[in-house]
Amino acid sequence: MSENKLNEAINTLKDSGVRITPQRHAVLDYLLNSTIHPTADDIYKALEGKFPNMSVATVYNNLRVLREIGLVRELTYGDSSSRFDCNTTEHYHIICDACGRIVDFHYPTLDEVESLAEQVTGFDVSHHRMEIYGKCEDCQQLQTQKH
Ligand SMILES: [Zn+2]
Ligand SMILES: [Zn+2]
Repeated sequence: MSENKLNEAINTLKDSGVRITPQRHAVLDYLLNSTIHPTADDIYKALEGKFPNMSVATVYNNLRVLREIGLVRELTYGDSSSRFDCNTTEHYHIICDACGRIVDFHYPTLDEVESLAEQVTGFDVSHHRMEIYGKCEDCQQLQTQKH
């Protein structure tokens, strides 16, 4: 199934005239098979064995290209490193306070919040972001083991 997603993504790259370098291919493949919403650093660490000449800057560069053609979303969290998500369908995130893991979950889009905000403030709303915070199952287990 992820092979199909990879092929689809490669076709999108081809259609937008973006050159498919081995690194770009590897970054995309890694992202498509990852559910942790990695940082550029995570991706770099995972691929440096395969591409010893690759730098974090190259990873960033590739991520920027992928973001510009809509294959990857960048999630920013204040001063901490951006996380990257190749699930570009509408979804929300739940974030673990303890380990920082980000997990996708689906919920009907809260469109009514957007129209309410628009009515109340007169803004032209472009999008909204909602995050739920808590402790993931692994971290809960770790906590009980300690006691
Ligand atoms: Zn956790
Ligand atoms: Zn996500």
